[in-house]
Amino acid sequence: MNKLNIDKIRQDFVILNQKCNSKPLSYLDSGATTLKPKSVVDAVNNYNSIGTANIHRGLYALSEKATNDYENTRLKVQKFLNANLSEEIIFTSGTTGALNMVALGWAQVNLQAGDEIIITEMEHHSNIVPWQMLCQKIGSILKVIPIDNHGDIVYAEFQKLLNSKTKLLSITHTSNALGTINPVKKMIAEAKKYNVVTLVDAAQAVAHNKVDVKDLDCDMLAFSGHKLLAPTGVGVLYGRIKILEQFQPFIGGGDMIDKVSFAGTTYADLPARLEAGTPPIAQVIALGTAIDYILDIGFDAIADYETNLLKYATKELLKIEGLKIIGTAPKKASIISFVLDNIHPHDLAQMLDQVGVACRTGHHCCQPIMNHFNILGTTRVSMAFYNNRIDIDNLINGIKRAKDFLL
Ligand code: PLP
Repeated sequence: MNKLNIDKIRQDFVILNQKCNSKPLSYLDSGATTLKPKSVVDAVNNYNSIGTANIHRGLYALSEKATNDYENTRLKVQKFLNANLSEEIIFTSGTTGALNMVALGWAQVNLQAGDEIIITEMEHHSNIVPWQMLCQKIGSILKVIPIDNHGDIVYAEFQKLLNSKTKLLSITHTSNALGTINPVKKMIAEAKKYNVVTLVDAAQAVAHNKVDVKDLDCDMLAFSGHKLLAPTGVGVLYGRIKILEQFQPFIGGGDMIDKVSFAGTTYADLPARLEAGTPPIAQVIALGTAIDYILDIGFDAIADYETNLLKYATKELLKIEGLKIIGTAPKKASIISFVLDNIHPHDLAQMLDQVGVACRTGHHCCQPIMNHFNILGTTRVSMAFYNNRIDIDNLINGIKRAKDFLL
């Protein structure tokens, strides 16, 4: 297995050269958004400086190049996810955009009153609220798989929820607030026994492990570019072609049509049918560059490195008296949420910021998890392959300093 050349990798992330509050930056908030390597920044700049043109419509060289680069990313995403067809890749504004697209474009037209949708208690709000809105509109019913006190789903409860009325299982691959990696493949196989359509929120998974839609056997999967080294504003909905064909376009406009007249409109084939209007062209192109970058490093090396970093950070954090980790499932991504004595997470975050440590505090868009653990919020450290042990040491020293100051 290739070892990571961490010093070389860190040079690709220009942001890491800067000081934050006069201290070297320890960026530990990759769960919120990952840093972008120079090649990705260059891809955006190139399009905006020397490559600007709209796609799909221009018959001149610049437009053809932009179209090729845009469509090339679709091919890269197809390969990245191991999808069968490039038409199965729809560009969206992000994971939230993709999940809402499923709710409005598929579930709203294919589900009926009384049909059941299953999610887990650990979902991000973007995999809760669209289903609640849908249930209000069409009378479908939302069922929730509970979690235990480690932050794992209670599998037996999931099995009990499945029945002939279940029409959709929409679950997170990896919890952004707890780090739990769910047994997604096993859950999908279980759901298939009831012919349930399956949707995976892979927002926290794609930058850390190989995600293979054939291996998972999911019907749909969503992720955000900005959590995979790419810019904000672009995401992906993967859908098995048979499912995407059941979508009704819910955003109408340019690029998604075949013929328009006042007598009526016919729609373009997939994927254009679900991509109305001018898309975020630079961002899509840069997503392709981000995928090249991450594949060049390789997921085996990334997973190995991040697992070691997670072990080190967990061990060091647990040495701090009064610190309790929230989310202790055996299978975890490189995310650690914790509470510390009676220190408010926001106070801790401010003190950490003073020593250059950037991490997230609060409910992490997962209020039901906070309710489960009866806490207001946590401090969350989320690591990526560009972090090193110095970042963790800075975090630990920052927490000790905050304890001395605040207690
Ligand atoms: N799902 C999970 C698990 C997430 O962590 C996030 C963002 O933090 C989202 C969905 C929403 O992603 P976005 O805000 O990029 O649409």
